[in-house]
Amino acid sequence: MVVILEEVIKGVYRMTLPLPFRGTDYLNVYILKEEKPAVIDTGIGDQISVERVLRGVEEAGIRVSDLEHIITTHEHIEHFGGNKDVKDRTGADVYAHVIAADAIEGFHEAVLKLGKLIDRVEMPVWDRERLKIIMRFNLMVKVTSVDHRVRDGDIIDLGSRELKVIHTPGHSLGHICLYDEERKALFTGDHVLGEGTPFVGSGFGGIFYGVEREEGESWWFEGDIDLYMKSLEKLLGLEVRIIFPAHGPVSTDPYGRIAETLERKKSRERKLVEILQEGRKDLEAIVRELYGQVNDIYLVRGATLGYLNKLIKEGKVRFTMKEGKLYFEPT
Ligand SMILES: [Zn+2]
Ligand SMILES: [Zn+2]
Repeated sequence: MVVILEEVIKGVYRMTLPLPFRGTDYLNVYILKEEKPAVIDTGIGDQISVERVLRGVEEAGIRVSDLEHIITTHEHIEHFGGNKDVKDRTGADVYAHVIAADAIEGFHEAVLKLGKLIDRVEMPVWDRERLKIIMRFNLMVKVTSVDHRVRDGDIIDLGSRELKVIHTPGHSLGHICLYDEERKALFTGDHVLGEGTPFVGSGFGGIFYGVEREEGESWWFEGDIDLYMKSLEKLLGLEVRIIFPAHGPVSTDPYGRIAETLERKKSRERKLVEILQEGRKDLEAIVRELYGQVNDIYLVRGATLGYLNKLIKEGKVRFTMKEGKLYFEPT
């Protein structure tokens, strides 16, 4: 659903930006009208969405030059891509978690490395072409430095509102939620969505599955399902009345949303354990049984690897390598 600009609760304006991604068709941008105004997440950075963010700021009754903070929930392009232009046009400072800040500042370098890795992987020609298009698209995303590298527990001071940084690694390692304790409001980024559950897994690991890593080489954008579940449980310890997610509708049932997300992830893991109990299987077979027919094999392969990594760490599953193929079985 497209939202031009609505004041959800006093001082919190929500607007949506369309995204060119399958399954995630828009991003919520939040504009906080406070003594020191802030915007949370800025879109992929195309000219139309940058103009829309700036118009949203004005329509919320804030002078563009008065915007002070650009807060980035995490290191995925639809959340930080507009930072450079919004910063250049407003003079606002950019905030992100230290881990996200490193990933954002090293973004182009990581994309170039990934582009080279793609050449080392065996895959159908059309897959390779599609991935190369994605890499070229990523290189077009503008990057700017992060002015304030925040950590768990830090306070971002908006004058008339305080936001506490809650580090919630899992969906991405540098993910933060922002907690307004006074109003019991939580900006959840991609950690808890308005509907459905976020992708958590081995990111591009699904593509490079079977490819040996070189020393210090990252598969980029790796999530961690184990950390993700712990971060969800951490949120249960906060008193929250309303959540503002980066995708999907605002929810006044935060604990319901968190519980549903936990249950969906746990039931997927249970299903995986059942599948493995039937005996040794290779990854492709496991993915097919776990997800059925899918649109994006690499994404679900990455998510499956995420669950498998967790089970391996817990000592419940072991893997063997045979002729370049990975097999998994219960211990
Ligand atoms: Zn994300
Ligand atoms: Zn997102």
